[in-house]
Amino acid sequence: MRKYDRNAVFNIAVKALLFIVFFAAAFCILKFAFNLATVISVIVGLICGLAAVFLFSYLLRYTGFYYSYYAFVSRFLFREKQGNVYCPCCGRHFEHFEDERFYDDLKHYNPEMFKKSRQDVICDCCRSAPRQRIIAQWAEQNVDMLKSSKILYFAPELSMMLWFRKHGIRVTTADLFDKRTDLKLDLTAIDLPDGSEDIVFCNHVLEHVSDYKVALSELHRVLKEGGRLIISFPINYDFEEVHEEKTGSGEERIRLFGQDDHLRVFGKDSRKILEGSGFAVESIDLSGFPQEIVPVTGPADYDTNEIFCCVRK
Ligand SMILES: [Zn+2]
Repeated sequence: MRKYDRNAVFNIAVKALLFIVFFAAAFCILKFAFNLATVISVIVGLICGLAAVFLFSYLLRYTGFYYSYYAFVSRFLFREKQGNVYCPCCGRHFEHFEDERFYDDLKHYNPEMFKKSRQDVICDCCRSAPRQRIIAQWAEQNVDMLKSSKILYFAPELSMMLWFRKHGIRVTTADLFDKRTDLKLDLTAIDLPDGSEDIVFCNHVLEHVSDYKVALSELHRVLKEGGRLIISFPINYDFEEVHEEKTGSGEERIRLFGQDDHLRVFGKDSRKILEGSGFAVESIDLSGFPQEIVPVTGPADYDTNEIFCCVRK
């Protein structure tokens, strides 16, 4: 979750505002340098201006306005370019996707698990990774169905939230820790009635929770019969079955699972696990997808980006 939660546009905009305030203040001070009362009023104004900027940025970070603001600012900062790659989340072409150098962050990631996959896979504008672009492309083909559905999105991903905003689709967001979401929900004890949701999105959350089987039974419970669960998680196809280690240290988890907050990595039995939880399981079929949204794997080797589209039985 954390690794894609970067907001370059937001930071640029806040810095730009700070620069404007700073230069406006400098101009006033120079102009009225010999007038003490003016200098004092400018300094007071500067302090109030900075306080307003920080309050504004705080409100954006911790309220639902954040996604709308990001969409608004990114429209001006990232212009459409001709290019070889396309991000369906933010709807922009680029010459190439970016290398975020996750393998350099030894505190959180295991660089050994970034060797087999391409690293230039992150969208420069909305920070989408391949899995979000696959989901956005799938969503493009299912706009009408999404518009008429009650949607719950666990651990909302910025790039997909931009896509939903762009299409005017209302989504209820939920997370146990992220204060920007609409609801604070624990995936292993979802405080929602049975059969209350049409569609639930839950990408790269299952590897973080204490008990993934309980989480899946909760997801099954809150979905209506025939409702859909769009879900993905780290998979290592070298493993026959899920490999978990809940008690190890952060270093141990980085070594085993590639990331310090992962408690497990799934294996070849992923589909069987989902079916055993009461779902009819299909993977999103990439065959008809435009080549320009590729590469579709990475950045980590466990980001196989197989997205399961499960129908609740
Ligand atoms: Zn994008």
